[in-house]
Amino acid sequence: MRRPLVAGNWKMHGSRQSVDALLQGLAAQEWPEGVELMIAPPALYVDRCCEQLQGTPIQVGGQVCAAQAEPGALTGEISPAQLRDAGCAYVLVGHSERRSLFGETDEVVCRKFAAALASGLCPVLCVGETQAERDAGQTAEVVGRQLQAVLDVFGVGGLAEGVVAYEPVWAIGTGLTATPEQAQDVHAMIRARLAILDDEQARKVQIVYGGSVKGENAEALFAMPDIDGGLIGGASLNAEEFGAIARAA
Ligand code: 13P
Repeated sequence: MRRPLVAGNWKMHGSRQSVDALLQGLAAQEWPEGVELMIAPPALYVDRCCEQLQGTPIQVGGQVCAAQAEPGALTGEISPAQLRDAGCAYVLVGHSERRSLFGETDEVVCRKFAAALASGLCPVLCVGETQAERDAGQTAEVVGRQLQAVLDVFGVGGLAEGVVAYEPVWAIGTGLTATPEQAQDVHAMIRARLAILDDEQARKVQIVYGGSVKGENAEALFAMPDIDGGLIGGASLNAEEFGAIARAA
């Protein structure tokens, strides 16, 4: 009953030229039926991507947004309403790079989640533990705390209007993919935690995995019962590989 989502996070990569080449490559791919597809380019290229992906099944997302939907004196920020206006359908919130490098707290992430929903965007809430936290046996606690901030305000029904992305920090950009079993364990733990609060809604929540997903490991990950697709970093910068990952979902 849950449709898979395969999303590409381009992070701070690309130029007008390389973005155009990547978009052309994406247009040439065969996309599977029944899989939701999204790319999140740098904000400067959102417009370009929205225009050029019209008529394809690929939606566009922001990588980040301000914590309020209304316009305001927030130099440098982009509101979720502006992303929506440009044609975006999604926005990432709480990516580990935002949490660790830009000081985004659970509270800020929750406000961004709220602003995204209020603007008609689907927020992709990223959660995940560091290597040290995993080694200390704190994975459930850390992921649970990151989810709880949003659950306190929105409940499971509100969370289900977005997407959860489990991205263990130790697997991001390291080539160290979580094994399908390691990822499934955490996805199942997340869903079980949600099910305690609301079993019916918990079954609806899309939980995607991110962290060194590639063409060669995607199929085994996506075959797991609680892994509903992926959030792809590096490999999404290659149209053929992103296409192969999407077809594995
Ligand atoms: P990589 O796929 O490059 O590990 O990045 C994952 C990620 O952070 C996606 O948001």
